[in-house]
Amino acid sequence: TYSPPDKAAVLEMRQQHFGSNLKLSYTDPVMLLRGWRHHMFDDWGRPYLDAYNNVPHVGHAHPRIQAVVADQLLRMNSNTRYLHPTQAEFAEKLLSKMPPHLSVCYFVNSGSEANELALRLARAATGGRGIVTPNHGYHGNTTGAIDISAYKFNAKGGIGRPDHVALVDLPDDYRGPHRRDNPQAGGLYAAQVQVAIKALQKRGHTLAGFIAETFPSVGGQIIPPPGYLSEVYKRIRAAGGVCIADEVQTGLGRLGQHYFAFEALGASPDMVVLGKPIGNGHPLGVVVTTPQIAEAFAQGPEFFSTFGGSTLSCRVGKTVLDIVDDEGLAQNAANMGARLMAGLKALMNRHEAIGDVRGMGLFVGVELVTDRRGRTPATGIAAYVMNRMREHRILMGREGPDDNILKIRPPLTIDAEGIDMILHVLDNVLAETGAQMPPR
Ligand code: PMP
Repeated sequence: TYSPPDKAAVLEMRQQHFGSNLKLSYTDPVMLLRGWRHHMFDDWGRPYLDAYNNVPHVGHAHPRIQAVVADQLLRMNSNTRYLHPTQAEFAEKLLSKMPPHLSVCYFVNSGSEANELALRLARAATGGRGIVTPNHGYHGNTTGAIDISAYKFNAKGGIGRPDHVALVDLPDDYRGPHRRDNPQAGGLYAAQVQVAIKALQKRGHTLAGFIAETFPSVGGQIIPPPGYLSEVYKRIRAAGGVCIADEVQTGLGRLGQHYFAFEALGASPDMVVLGKPIGNGHPLGVVVTTPQIAEAFAQGPEFFSTFGGSTLSCRVGKTVLDIVDDEGLAQNAANMGARLMAGLKALMNRHEAIGDVRGMGLFVGVELVTDRRGRTPATGIAAYVMNRMREHRILMGREGPDDNILKIRPPLTIDAEGIDMILHVLDNVLAETGAQMPPR
């Protein structure tokens, strides 16, 4: 007879052997042992709909990824000091998706490492250290990445804002100071960059550049208003800085019509940072930049990463990009995202608690409020909904400074049944919160 791993024992060992700031999701944590496409299976083989994880971009346990990993590990796995065709093949495939001025790749092992390297490149290109970045951003767990991640340095017990970093408001056109009804909102948020640059200069820092998640995710699944990013980039460049787009959450077709979020905003970065989905579960990060920035960086010491750009990593990365194309996953993200957004907007007519629905493709946020007029964050309702969805075996996330925004970010394989199940269950769960629309 099958007996699953003892969940209570696993939990206890975890509590004994790991730091307590390694967080678990859900009041009743879930133990997941297998996955397939956008489904996961727990200790008893019960299915869960994965509406949250962006790492399994082309789906959990994809047979082509399994085959390529097995094949490469049977041959060998080595580093960038030896020639291998797969490194150039991966770079060429990735660069075919980028604007032509972005033509140099660096391969590393995580989004954090990629951002860390992007900071070094920016310093090499400008001679400066000063960074402007929106509030509530997240760029990784390394020392340098934490320095530019307000979500971490401003958290309880955090290190506080480093002197070489200046913050601007999140371009949140639902809750922030400039809102959707103001056609100037994008320009007004962008103008804050000028104040930040001045503040850095006053503190004696030369500007290195600007970094942002192109669509801020940790900040609450924000879609910046039109004109915002291109205006920011213009101001940063005029002050001598470079512009870094962290596309870890938004890149590679998730948005449907746009392969990257900077395209959707009509902005052109000097560096693009990629992570999580590009390895589909294999650790992989990439920085793509211009030949000029790469040349400035090459004036310094050799760049080397033992595992970054390994034969295995490059084959995995190339295969992920191939699968997105071969299976039409960006088109699926566009179709399923549209279905989800339409369904969520319909739910707004039934549930007072939904203050805002926003998104593009399969990058979607549902902002919950206790009253629509005051837009008071409904943090408690969001926690309740997330846990109840899990009890109905749908995995979702919660984001934003007030943790009141439901985050829906499934693998790109999700289908109409999956979307309709999310909508149906969310409708029922929201009804339980008692915050329905008054009958009309
Ligand atoms: N940038 C963004 C936008 C992220 O969401 C993350 C991870 N959540 C990172 C960087 C860091 O990536 P990693 O955890 O792979 O180091």
